[in-house]
This record gives sequence, structure tokens and C-alpha cells, in this order.
Amino acid sequence: MVDDQPSNADLLNIALAAEGFKVFKAYSGESALKLLQDIAAVVDLVLLDVNMPGMDGYQMCSRMKADDKLKEIPVMFVSAIDDVTVKMNGFQVGGVDYITKPFHRIELVARIRTHVDLRRKQREIEALHRNEVEHYRRMNTVKDNMLQVVSHDLKNPLSAIISGLGILKLTLWNAIQSDDKALSGFQLIGSSADKMRGMIHDLLDLVLVEGTLTLNRELTWLIPYLEKRLNDFNHMAAEKQITLKFTPPPYDFQVAIAPDRFAQVLENLLSNAIKYTDPQGMVELVAVLERDGVHISVRDTGPGIAEDDLPHLFEKFYRVRSVAHRDQTGTGLGLVIAKLITELHQGRIEVQSQIGKGSTFTVVLPA
Ligand code: ADP
Repeated sequence: MVDDQPSNADLLNIALAAEGFKVFKAYSGESALKLLQDIAAVVDLVLLDVNMPGMDGYQMCSRMKADDKLKEIPVMFVSAIDDVTVKMNGFQVGGVDYITKPFHRIELVARIRTHVDLRRKQREIEALHRNEVEHYRRMNTVKDNMLQVVSHDLKNPLSAIISGLGILKLTLWNAIQSDDKALSGFQLIGSSADKMRGMIHDLLDLVLVEGTLTLNRELTWLIPYLEKRLNDFNHMAAEKQITLKFTPPPYDFQVAIAPDRFAQVLENLLSNAIKYTDPQGMVELVAVLERDGVHISVRDTGPGIAEDDLPHLFEKFYRVRSVAHRDQTGTGLGLVIAKLITELHQGRIEVQSQIGKGSTFTVVLPA
């Protein structure tokens, strides 16, 4: 209760104490703000006189609303001024109620009870929410640590398997090649090891990206940057006789991106486009500057994706199970990683697709 006149404060105090409220008193805005800093955690409501020498009630309320520690505490004005404009000002500075003096005790207590109850309910909800967030954060850390440990620990033996295969290829290749069973066994080990390497790579990437809060952005010239990303896929495309095409914007400009991180987005989209497109198809990288940002699209002449699958593409581990997709290996994490990185750049990712015609994945970055 804040009132510059001790007699008013005492009167209110007696009325409220009789109702079971614990009342803290302050006789000026300045001393009330000081006191609140210490007792904010137990205060359910501030009863605030409007007219006070020095800082008046409205100024004090504005100060409370600008203070993270105090802003949630409801403020009820108590004043002798019964004027609509004055009352409106009270609400504008963040007050929840306004009662005029002389007040009826029953009415005052009823209103106070309402606000105190509301405040307590609000606190309960906040506490529940905090607990939930904390629980979720803990679970997430456990999951991240587990993924990281497992992936790291798998990496070493897997590298050993892959280099062991390399040695066998160097030393026993003729013998392996001349025996169909040995050859298919050898190839099976090789392709499984590759698949596992891809999964570990994606899992580690996902953990890394999910844990990234900020990016180190650099102003990057777009055209040479995109060209480099596309050229990195020349070999993979040539193996399937897929034509790579680059359609740059008419003039170059800079975008604020974390170059290495954003490269992962394009790599995931380009490698998917080449992976899922049949030999002799085409994959095109297009960039245009539109009103809402830079649109960077990866277009392919692949099998397309059914409408039912589209909403799920960006979910962890989701993979399309159509005949056209059957032979391809993957983790279902690439697009999740691409989406997370795009969103870290305040961008969005969209997909358009038509069965039998192809797919277009578009990343839109704020210009
Ligand atoms: P994956 O490791 O399986 O490629 P992604 O998250 O990169 O995982 O992609 C999820 C699924 O979306 C893929 O399994 C594939 O079925 C489908 N997909 C992605 N890109 C394309 C594309 N360009 N054409 C057709 N299907 C695609």
C-alpha cells in the first residue's frame, strides 16, 4: 500500500488486516519502489495512491511496468479524484483497477480479492510452465549428450572399417573381383559403412545445429558463393549424367549469412535433388531477389513428392516410401537440418512438387 498520508494507509491497513491480508506500507513512490525490490516475490497487488508529492502514482506505476522484476505485479489505484480522464490514464500506465475514495470497505476488499486471486493463479501457471520448460531442457540435454557420445564413439570403429576395406581393396582386389560372392559381400560392407557414415554425420550435424543459438554472419557476395556450392556437385551429377544449371540473379549482391553453415542447406538440397533424380535429368539452382527476400531454389526433374508426404518432409527421420524413392538410402535428417539452419538465418524453406515432374525446394532469406 502506497499512500503519502499515514492516516489513510492505517485505515486501509486495519480493514485489510481484518480480512487476513499482510500489508506492507510505503509513504512515497520512491520508497515504495525500493521496498518492492526486496519483497516483489511475495507481493500480489500494489494499492497505489495517485496524488503524492514527488513521484506520483502514475509515474511509479510506469516505473514498475518498465522493471522486469516488478512489471507483473498488478497495480490498483486508490484516489479521491473521480474523473474519467484521470482514471483512463491510470489504465494506460498499466493499472488493472481504479477505486475512488471514500471507498466502501466491502467493495474494496472484493476487488482486491479478485486481483489477488488472479495474480496467484497467474503465478501458479508461470511456475508450472517454468517446471515444464526446465524438464524439457534437461531431457534435451540428456538426448544431445547421448547422441553426441554415441555418434562420436561409433565414428572411430567405422573409420577403421572403411580404411580396412581400402587395404583389402589394395591387397586382395583381384581375388575379390574374381569371386562373385566375395565381391557382393565386399560391396555390401562398403555400402553399409557409407550409409552408417552418412547417418552419423547427419546426427552430429543435427545436435550441433539444434544447440546453435547464434550465427557468425558475414556479408557474402551471392553469385560466386552459389556457383561454388553448385560446382562442388559436378562429380556427383556427372556420375548420373545429370545436367547442372545455374540461373543467377541479373546482378550480384551481398547476403548476411554464416557461409559454412548456410552451405549445408544448399548441400542438402542439391544432394537430394541429384540423389532422387533419374539419370539424364536436370538440377537447377536459381536465385532471385523478391520483395520479401532472396529466393534460392533448387529445382529438379526427379520423381516428385506426393501431396500427402509434403507436410512431413521436414520432420525428423521422415522418408518418402514411394517406388521411385525405394533404392535411395538416407536418414531423413537432411531437410530437418536445412530447415533449422534456414530458420537460424530468420529465413524459411518451402517445397513445391508434382509427381512425375519434379520438385522445387526454395529457401527465402531476408534481404
Ligand atoms: P534423406 O537423408 O532421406 O534424403 P532428407 O531429410 O534430406 O532425408 O529428405 C527427406 C525425404 O524427402 C527423403 O527421404 C526423400 O524421400 C524426400 N526428398 C527430399 N528431397 C527430394 C527431392 N529432391 N525429390 C524427391 N524426394 C525428395
